[in-house]
Amino acid sequence: MAIHEFKAESKRLMDLMIGSIYTHREIFLRELISNASDAIDKLYFKSLTDSNVGMNLSDYEIRIDLDEENRTITITDNGIGMTKEELQNNLGTIAKSGSFQFKNENEKNDDINIIGQFGVGFYSAFMVAKEVTVISKAYGSDKAYKWQSQGSEGYTLESAQRDNVGTTIIMNLKDNTEEEDFDEFLDTYRIKNLITRYSDYIRYPIKMEVEKSRKKEDSDDYETYTEIETVNTMVPLWRKNKNEIKDEEYNDFYKSKFMDFEDPMEVIHTKTEGITSYDALMFIPSKTPFDYYTKEFQKGLQLYSNGVMIMDKCEDLLPDYFGFVKGLVDSADLSLNISREMLQHDRQLSVIAKSIEKKIKTELTKMLKNDREKYEKFWESFGRQLKFGAYENFGANKDKLQDLLMFVSSNENKLTTLDEYVNRMKPEQKDIYYACAENIQRAEHLPQVEMIKDKGFEILYLTEDVDEFCLKMIREYNEKTFKSVADKNLDLETKEEKEEYKKLEEENKDILEAIKTSLGDKVKSVKLTQRLKSHPVCITSDSEISLEMEKVLKAMPSNNGVNIDKVLEINPKHAVFDTVKRLHESKSEKFNDLCYVLYSNALLTEGLELENPSEFTPRLSSLIENI
Ligand code: ADP
Repeated sequence: MAIHEFKAESKRLMDLMIGSIYTHREIFLRELISNASDAIDKLYFKSLTDSNVGMNLSDYEIRIDLDEENRTITITDNGIGMTKEELQNNLGTIAKSGSFQFKNENEKNDDINIIGQFGVGFYSAFMVAKEVTVISKAYGSDKAYKWQSQGSEGYTLESAQRDNVGTTIIMNLKDNTEEEDFDEFLDTYRIKNLITRYSDYIRYPIKMEVEKSRKKEDSDDYETYTEIETVNTMVPLWRKNKNEIKDEEYNDFYKSKFMDFEDPMEVIHTKTEGITSYDALMFIPSKTPFDYYTKEFQKGLQLYSNGVMIMDKCEDLLPDYFGFVKGLVDSADLSLNISREMLQHDRQLSVIAKSIEKKIKTELTKMLKNDREKYEKFWESFGRQLKFGAYENFGANKDKLQDLLMFVSSNENKLTTLDEYVNRMKPEQKDIYYACAENIQRAEHLPQVEMIKDKGFEILYLTEDVDEFCLKMIREYNEKTFKSVADKNLDLETKEEKEEYKKLEEENKDILEAIKTSLGDKVKSVKLTQRLKSHPVCITSDSEISLEMEKVLKAMPSNNGVNIDKVLEINPKHAVFDTVKRLHESKSEKFNDLCYVLYSNALLTEGLELENPSEFTPRLSSLIENI
């Protein structure tokens, strides 16, 4: 019989699984039970419109059989089953997302995390089994097939015998070694425990043969007998009362259902009664999913109608800016056989979505207020998304989001909200200042920052590409406008200072013109500035687009030649300016080199690139020759 090879990516994952000494290998059970339950959901769903299915809701079940002698665990369901093609496609490949490519680029992510986030499902069987056999008969087919594999080498597929529609998965446990003991999975008590822990909420009965003992009639002796027992309570967690649920239960549920190896950071469980009633159980992951900021990421909540899942990822339930929330919504007011297209226009659904959005915002606001440390952790993972949210759609949602935003500020270099910033503002301070740079250290040392700090004004340090766009979109907070430290109209000088400056500019008109002529098109103008203290020069933008924004826009694929007008600002009180003046007056041939080096220096402090780096060294050398 031909051995089929796994697709390359599957083989890699399989190797990871087999070699995994992952301590949570027990999760294979919940993964397979969850697959079985999904398969039953699919058949039940079909039965709503297809009377040929011939099953009642009470007929569905998942069976677990342990065979100590042969060391096998068998999981059987009477769900929809798989055709030959489906066995091939579903179990022969797992390359459904780009996570493996991703892994190559980010080798520092350890394998386990990738496995966890990816949700390997069926393949987790290979963490405990040396051979896995799947016998399945699909609904509507009269043939059954057997898929069998011993791991990454490949699998075989052949015709088989199976009376009813459904799937049986037989796992032949790995041999015990000195380090690892797999016998625990043959222990009824242990398996029952795992089911109640991870799969209790499954809607269909999970049945096992359990050994029991009873007193014999007319005697004091005990006898053992076996009984088929339903192990799970079948009550969905979200239907239970909040105060009856332990944190652990929420955490286990989240991890098993939403493929995470870590506990969620926050659980949001609500029951809402009203025109539209619904239960929602939502989670904020504790870490950014590895694919979160890629286009592969799909937001959405699972949608249930009265306990039956009708959609796995209902996008319409979450606005993009809360796309990191995972979870589910269950409402009896939604029709079970509503189609995807109809759902989009469903009024009930949009009522639920609005209410959910509010709920999430309230929870985040509460977290910010009551648990700062946690919120800052949240911010680290998902803050970027909220900033995008405030910026997107021309700021349509800025009012909703602005109080959730945080930026690092010069106030102890800590994260601050806009509200906190405004509360700390000095009476004479009119604007909210910000400085953009690659990182905080650079921002702190920007030439323009010094003077504002000296006045005792706080500065927000913007280090992410979205930051300035976001603030520009918000425009003002609490009637205070946002102002870049590089803004040409900072308006910080006193009347006297302004006059003094005017005079200075008049006196130095010729030299400023000479510098401009020397630099040519590199700058739009050259002027004196009072915003510098220890720095001799700085570069600012003469347009609405700042230097930082230009950098971001230039890096975009759609960059259509943004080039902003730059202004070279010179500190007239700096000794360097005296040198410039001296060289100009003596008509020194080094004047041009000095202008060029000062200009380059200003670009570099701003974190910008030199237009022609190879020009820099010779001109600097010529300048310092024979000092
Ligand atoms: P996932 O469940 O995340 O899609 P799996 O690797 O666990 O990934 O399963 C792959 C696919 O195989 C499933 O989507 C489903 O179509 C099919 N499948 C797995 N188990 C069963 C089963 N017991 N009955 C029917 N189909 C199944």
